[in-house]
Amino acid sequence: MKYKRVIVWFKNDLRLHDHTALFSACKESSEIIPVYCFDPRQFGEVELGIQKTGAFRAKFLLEAVDNLRSNLIGIKANLIVRIGKPEEVIPILAEELQVEAVYFSEEVTQEEKNVENTLENALWKKGIQTRSFWQSTLFHMEDLPFPVNQTPEVFTQFRKECEKFSTVRKTLQKPEKINFPETELDLGYIPGLSTLGLQEPINSKKGVLPFSGGESAGIQRLQTYFWENDCLKTYKETRNGLLGPDYSSKFSAWLALGCLSPRYIYEEVQRYEKERKKNDSTYWLVFELIWRDYFRFISKKHGSKIFQVQGIKKHVDNWRKDEKLFWNWAEGTTGIPFVDSNMRELNATGFMSNRGRQNVASFLVNDLGIDWRWGAMYFESQLIDYDVCSNWGNWMYVAGVGNDPRENRYFNILKQANNYDKKGEYIRHWIPELSKIPGFDIHQPDSITKNELRSYGVHLGANYPHPIVAFSIREKGVAVKN
Ligand SMILES: Cc1cc2nc3c(=O)[nH]c(=O)nc-3n(C[C@H](O)[C@H](O)[C@H](O)COP(=O)(O)OP(=O)(O)OC[C@H]3O[C@@H](n4cnc5c(N)ncnc54)[C@H](O)[C@@H]3O)c2cc1C
Repeated sequence: MKYKRVIVWFKNDLRLHDHTALFSACKESSEIIPVYCFDPRQFGEVELGIQKTGAFRAKFLLEAVDNLRSNLIGIKANLIVRIGKPEEVIPILAEELQVEAVYFSEEVTQEEKNVENTLENALWKKGIQTRSFWQSTLFHMEDLPFPVNQTPEVFTQFRKECEKFSTVRKTLQKPEKINFPETELDLGYIPGLSTLGLQEPINSKKGVLPFSGGESAGIQRLQTYFWENDCLKTYKETRNGLLGPDYSSKFSAWLALGCLSPRYIYEEVQRYEKERKKNDSTYWLVFELIWRDYFRFISKKHGSKIFQVQGIKKHVDNWRKDEKLFWNWAEGTTGIPFVDSNMRELNATGFMSNRGRQNVASFLVNDLGIDWRWGAMYFESQLIDYDVCSNWGNWMYVAGVGNDPRENRYFNILKQANNYDKKGEYIRHWIPELSKIPGFDIHQPDSITKNELRSYGVHLGANYPHPIVAFSIREKGVAVKN
């Protein structure tokens, strides 16, 4: 053994299966001490008084850490939990516990890199080593057929090169037992939401899925979606859905916190292809995981540019910073049912479909002309599956400041509603006050006469807002000035 004792610092890799840092630590150290830190900086307020981490995401995180601790106990170990800045807490712990090294997974973006670098410096001063491991992607960074700083700007080129010249590494076995030393040290408690300054979210029964954090629930979701409900073989046809648990995998929240490994999903897709069916749908799930990789490597290549208003395209635009319009959007009171229903779903559950995200994001940046970073910031707070690279990367592309050769992607909300919610079922689900309006008319209540609306119990300006963008000009993407 190389070391007598090491700390494995868990971050967005809250699992035991396919965990490179943990796997390596088991090979290289006699004793292992798993640690998790709740970083207070993740729970403060950002611009506009928005919580950096909203209640749904925080709750999911607490559940995931709790599940990690249980699973560690299951293999004769435990998890030390602390509240504090990791770069301050871990060096103190490392000294107290007399560890020789700290192992952790490598992150991509600036805030996280700063923490890693400061921690490495602090440990180095104490003569404690650090080892970091790349592990969040399907294709390992070292296996890319190009240096990461030359990641192709265009997704299709990225995907084709990876598919042709790279292979996905095999998953690593979860350890059967960990040698966790006897220690007097307080193991620490997993805080409640109120300790993090948040209120328990009211769980809407209308949500697509009762998301529950942790590796066990993530693996169970895969089991249900692939094997019990047999949905993978139709994924490509259903993935643009809006209602119900099974139109898409819903793996994102577990992927974001690393409760599921993308390579594990990949191997299960391969097994499904062997044992059940191989078709365009089974491939398409992997295709989407490659999008996830793409945003990660693009973020690695471009650094903090993904958070800047001009994006990686260095495109300067006149974004508005109109708080009133922004809050209309965020609270789902734009008077445009397809936008409002999606935002209400997000606010009530922490989730929104991919179709919904594309539409509401396009509406904010193209129709309202609002600074895209406000949208990204709001999603960061609200999304249960918030992932720094996928979120900021997708927003950048919708805002036309990514390096996409295609023109700025404008989504015509009514056309989209017509394609994906022709009968208005999604609106009826989330905006019950409009539910009596029959058929597609529910998407454009202001096109119906006042008398008719009254007969459906709808009073524009009273129980549902007038649209903040006029229908007649919406195709051109012009917001009504107020
Ligand atoms: C404005 C905007 C913001 C977004 N923010 C996030 C975010 O913070 N976190 C996040 O995980 N996804 C984000 N997405 C991507 C996508 O909407 C979600 O990954 C997807 O809706 C999650 O549902 P699912 O797991 O059922 O997806 P599925 O359709 O089942 O896809 C399987 C997996 O592929 C990956 N994936 C699919 N589409 C994308 C995509 N466009 N970009 C990157 N990865 C993708 C996800 O990991 C997903 O879990 C965003 C998209 C937009 C347009």
